[in-house]
Amino acid sequence: MLLLARQCSRSRVCIPKVSRPIQRRQITQDVQITRTGRPIISVRGGRSSLGGHTCTVFGATGFLGRYIVNRLARAGNTVVVPYREEMTKRHLKVAGDLGRVVFLEMDLRNTPSIEESVRHSDIVYNLIGRDYYTKNFTLEDVHVEGAARIAEACAKYDVDRFVHVSTYNADKNNNTCEFFRTKGLGEQVVRSIYPETTIVRPAPAYGAEDRLLNRLATVTNLLTTNWMQERFWPVHAIDVGRALEVMLTDDTTAGQTYELYGPTNYSMAEIAELVDQEIFKNRRHINLPKRLYQPLAKVLSTVLWWPTVTPDEIEREFHDQVIDPNAKTFADLGIEPTELKNVSFEYLVGYRPSRYYDLPPMSEKERREEKKYLHVID
Ligand code: NDP
Repeated sequence: MLLLARQCSRSRVCIPKVSRPIQRRQITQDVQITRTGRPIISVRGGRSSLGGHTCTVFGATGFLGRYIVNRLARAGNTVVVPYREEMTKRHLKVAGDLGRVVFLEMDLRNTPSIEESVRHSDIVYNLIGRDYYTKNFTLEDVHVEGAARIAEACAKYDVDRFVHVSTYNADKNNNTCEFFRTKGLGEQVVRSIYPETTIVRPAPAYGAEDRLLNRLATVTNLLTTNWMQERFWPVHAIDVGRALEVMLTDDTTAGQTYELYGPTNYSMAEIAELVDQEIFKNRRHINLPKRLYQPLAKVLSTVLWWPTVTPDEIEREFHDQVIDPNAKTFADLGIEPTELKNVSFEYLVGYRPSRYYDLPPMSEKERREEKKYLHVID
């Protein structure tokens, strides 16, 4: 006591120490100026963040669309989703806070509806594409004319950035495959209208609702023509979504072409084998000669009113993925692509028969992670 009194008298001030929890509010605020001089103010705050950008995502109702809408909306950006059919867009509403995702009805042949969708935005993503022609739209209507209308609307309203999603192997000189040819033409047309267009060429993508792993796992008899020998670098849909998100803020991506592909080259047969191992089933693969399968597909796609295989999709089986050496990749965006084998279990576990429900680890990934059981049921 005496010692404490002496110390106090020496320093003259004696404040008793009280430990109190200190509450700190971290507000990270950022201001950016876009190409057209528009200020973007962003504030981080969980689900109620303010991203500051207004983004339009054409083709958001498809498989890849949800991965970019989710990223943009949860960062607090306003996302305009042009749609054709009420039921296809419902799942996107909850991607962000209330009012962040705005839906607008649009038709690819209706220019005012396209302009209405882009006029308030500072970035426009075009993910519209079709693997097959329909009775209303040819591949050229969708990939060339539709893309041109969107690019024209972006140029007319001086939208800061335009990101056009094309495909791997897009080549306007490809005379055998209509899909790759029209996608190549689309790239050329959008660049001529809007020169700063960022072109993205994803490899065949896998994810929760993909047309790669799910297709191989679902069908009992898989019809093919090339003995599943086509080779490509499958890419994770989440990585593509991340890359598209990076393009929002990185203006150096303007005017560039990106090839987005995974780290490993597989043949379709190798992926089918991986799928069979994961789901503990042996899917039957029937190989038909091209000269027989293509006319059959033509008849089926004309007679049947639901999408079946088209001759052009069969032709695509004879094209390996070719990477453009001049294009940029994930590495230029600072993203490390995911390895298919590390995540295939997540997407395929639902296809396992119920008798394998509670077994010890079976896949490579589980073995590595030393998981003892897939599910513990009491
Ligand atoms: P989906 O087929 O799942 O979705 C396509 C989107 O385009 C849908 O939103 C669809 O709208 C829209 N769309 C198609 N035709 C029209 C039309 N005539 N008018 C208006 N909208 C239309 O494609 P993905 O999400 O898988 O792919 C997105 C883009 O990436 C596409 O351009 C595709 O070619 C390309 N790509 C995809 C790959 C993949 O593995 N998934 C690989 C390489 C490239 P709606 O829902 O109303 O039908």
